[in-house]
Amino acid sequence: MVIGALLLFPIGLAVGSFLNVCIYRIPIGLSIVKPSRSFCPSCGSTISWYDNIPLLSYLILRGRCRHCGARISPRYPAVELITGLLFSLLYLRFGLSVELPEYIVMGSILIAVSAIDIRHYIIPLKLTGPGMGIGLAFAAGLAIKSGDVSVLIERLLGGAVGAGAIFAVGVIGSLIFKKEAMGLGDVELMGMIGLYLGLYPHVILVILLSAVLGSLVGLALIAAGRKGPKSQIPYGPFLAGGALISAFYGREIWGAYLRVMGF
Ligand SMILES: [Zn+2]
Repeated sequence: MVIGALLLFPIGLAVGSFLNVCIYRIPIGLSIVKPSRSFCPSCGSTISWYDNIPLLSYLILRGRCRHCGARISPRYPAVELITGLLFSLLYLRFGLSVELPEYIVMGSILIAVSAIDIRHYIIPLKLTGPGMGIGLAFAAGLAIKSGDVSVLIERLLGGAVGAGAIFAVGVIGSLIFKKEAMGLGDVELMGMIGLYLGLYPHVILVILLSAVLGSLVGLALIAAGRKGPKSQIPYGPFLAGGALISAFYGREIWGAYLRVMGF
């Protein structure tokens, strides 16, 4: 078990390195495949393979470009480290199961989407669209393998109800606050999450958890003077956080919640 988790860590680092390419290039409309080599956003020089090793290169170069000395954002090693840790934790929780590849794909997209939403306040359909396609393929595969179509229906309902709920929250929110509360990107993201996790209890839990996380972090940011009561706070990272918590411990949390509520 531990060996598997250790093996998945460098794989996660490498995937995180690719996610960094997506995070940088997709919002500004660059192709994620061409040029295939990474380049310094400051001076444009191509980054050699030995300067592009996840985590290590950042530490060796002390966070600066070898050519022009421009600061490299700590977001790069942070995304790599988070992805590496997530892959290891998923293996420790699920082992070699059907959930493992599903949650690896979902988690990777959630990391990229969160980083982009924090920086640009958008959630690109270029990421959630393929995410939905892969999620649907996984669900269809499970239904075919088990000969039970209810898996697929449960996932489709999860996507539809999740997207519909966030859309409704957005409409109600914009009526109350007179400004856009949820973007279409949040609706699409929740639709994607629902396709991976299924309707019950996950989609309900993700919506509750994201609201709790969003309120706590929002209040903390206002208290710290980083945001005003009226400033825009991206919602994608909270949906992503809720989805990951729910993927790991959703059934346990939901069971405890029902007991507390007296069901
Ligand atoms: Zn440079």
